[in-house]
Amino acid sequence: MQNILPQLLQLPPLLIGLADLAAAFLFLYGLHRMASPVTASSGILVAGIGMAVAVLASFLYAFDVDPAAQPRLMVNITLVFVALGIGGGAAWWSGRKVAMTAMPQMVAIYNGLGGGAAGAIAAIELFGGKAAGMTPFIVTLAGALIGAVSLSGSLIAWAKLDGVIEKPWRFRGQQAVNGLLLLLTLAVGAYLAVVTHGATGDSSVAVPALPTAIYLFFALALALGICMTLPIGGADMPVVISIFNAFTGLAVGLEGFVLKNPALMIAGMVVGAAGMLLTLLMAKAMNRSVANVVFTNFGTIARHKQGNIKGSLKPMQASDAGIAMRYAASVIIVPGYGLAVAQGQGKLYEFVKLLRDGGVSVKFAVHPVAGRMPGQMDVLLAEAGVPYDMIFQLEDINDEFATTDIALVIGANDVVNPAARNDKSSPIFGMPILNADKSKKVFVVKRGEGKGYADIVNTLFYSDNCNMVYGDAQAVLIKMIEAVRGLGLPAVA
Ligand code: NAP
Repeated sequence: MQNILPQLLQLPPLLIGLADLAAAFLFLYGLHRMASPVTASSGILVAGIGMAVAVLASFLYAFDVDPAAQPRLMVNITLVFVALGIGGGAAWWSGRKVAMTAMPQMVAIYNGLGGGAAGAIAAIELFGGKAAGMTPFIVTLAGALIGAVSLSGSLIAWAKLDGVIEKPWRFRGQQAVNGLLLLLTLAVGAYLAVVTHGATGDSSVAVPALPTAIYLFFALALALGICMTLPIGGADMPVVISIFNAFTGLAVGLEGFVLKNPALMIAGMVVGAAGMLLTLLMAKAMNRSVANVVFTNFGTIARHKQGNIKGSLKPMQASDAGIAMRYAASVIIVPGYGLAVAQGQGKLYEFVKLLRDGGVSVKFAVHPVAGRMPGQMDVLLAEAGVPYDMIFQLEDINDEFATTDIALVIGANDVVNPAARNDKSSPIFGMPILNADKSKKVFVVKRGEGKGYADIVNTLFYSDNCNMVYGDAQAVLIKMIEAVRGLGLPAVA
């Protein structure tokens, strides 16, 4: 027995190592599966199992607790279970009830809480004087700064997306104020590093830092996150959330380094890298730089004058449009943000099935930034049961519009605006668009004269081959279905 005990005590570190390895594999494999809509939901499950493994493995650290801290162990473990219950319960409830159009807000709030958690770990290290040595101390400070900026910035992003804050808050010299805030935060951080570790920084002994300076450091970092996000327009928030997502990942990874917790390091780096890639892909699909999103006021700079437009808007009844599509040989459907607003995806697929029963070739064309978050249209269509082989990405379908009878643009606007192709003065010039305008006929379903996200006029709507079908997307689809059913045509075998 005496011989076995030392070996048993060696087990937790070994189990932690194996669990971290398994968690890392599950995170990466889950992420890989998320790359395709066909495997995405199982990818989320796989990554979730990885997270559960990492959380369970963290309880094994309890075997390694300093004997002086043993009396508090049970209290701390109880608190962890309470926190897991509250956090897990709230996430489960909100995840189930969130509307598809409110998804960006939910991502913003979860992301902010992740940044806040990284900042809280850093606070414990700093107040407790646990970060021994200059390098861990600076890494802790970096995690604290990035985590705090991500927390307050994400909360502002949530408030803007949810309509709690309605207007961007801008004033002259705002960027200079933000720069000054950053410099002040860094200066307080440098002061803390020098006070605790000496000017040479060669101390490897943990020294408690000055509480007032730590409070000031966090207050400045939180203010920086707020001031950075307030001037950015609400419509640019999805890109901003993605940037904060990358920040949160980085902060978590840095705190994983401080705590010597490999699972935290890997999870943080995966989230950080994925967030940064997503930000770059979104910016590329909008033909804008990340700096342009963060530092300019998109949509308020360049506006199209109505006078530039040739042609007129030509309204059409929903029933006539529906019947025309039933008699067409080929239809490409371009879904956009308005379809998600109308929750018309179910009716859309019902209508598509009617067309296909009549022998019409129907395909969906999805733009990479259609909707308000990446993949929103793919998820929406999958929710309605649209088979994946009917859904095509921009580069795979764009050449087909020219030989297609009818393009049905439903709740989409910017992603089919030809100004992106041929008007250098347009704020969306250079953004790749779906070539709906090249189809023989285009039907656009929208409620009225409302503009899209970029707040500019769409020249497609005025072109000779385009008709406007006004109304809420779901209500229009119901009329189209009734009209086609009313024809009483037999299904084509
Ligand atoms: P959009 O340009 O925002 O246009 C949506 C259109 O839907 C509007 O013109 C609106 O016109 C119509 N609409 C709204 N509610 C409707 C309803 N209930 N029924 C029918 N129509 C309705 O959408 P998009 O073409 O999908 O383009 C997405 C835009 O968001 C792009 O500019 C993109 O750069 C930007 N963006 C996307 C992401 C992303 O990750 N996906 C991130 C950031 C920014 P009415 O008001 O007249 O109905």
